[in-house]
Amino acid sequence: MAEHKATALLITCMDYRFVDSFYKEAHALGIEHSYDRVAIAGDIKNVVRPSKPGDAELILRQIEISKELHDIEEVVIISHQNCGAYGELAGLSADQELSVHTQDLLAAREIIISRVPGIRVLTFFATLKEGDHNNIMALKKLLHDSTSGNTRSTYQQAVV
Ligand SMILES: [Zn+2]
Repeated sequence: MAEHKATALLITCMDYRFVDSFYKEAHALGIEHSYDRVAIAGDIKNVVRPSKPGDAELILRQIEISKELHDIEEVVIISHQNCGAYGELAGLSADQELSVHTQDLLAAREIIISRVPGIRVLTFFATLKEGDHNNIMALKKLLHDSTSGNTRSTYQQAVV
């Protein structure tokens, strides 16, 4: 039994532009003051398509440690638009960018669940204000249909 209990592990990009926004989102999602945090460039891209050997393991180990130490119930992932670690997407449309992030979020979710059985994984994509890439405009929640075993890659508006 963990001596200290937290609700979630929050995984986000390290990007300095969104430090305040990510905190506000955590508050709005109801996990404020009750989450561990992993901040790494490109967040779960490191799990799905790591650029260096060991990057995926680093994050997956943090999830295990968070579970062991703080008995977390869920992993909350917030990826974001205009991510420098996704530089290969520069020049693509917003829809194309969202599509790549969606596939990565879905793949990361599967990898995390297989590594830490029973963990709940919530996935979000933060869009930015038009012409102002320093602020999050909206947080979209990627829906998962657990009843059929299929995952729908559709989004609903989440909190901001
Ligand atoms: Zn980023």
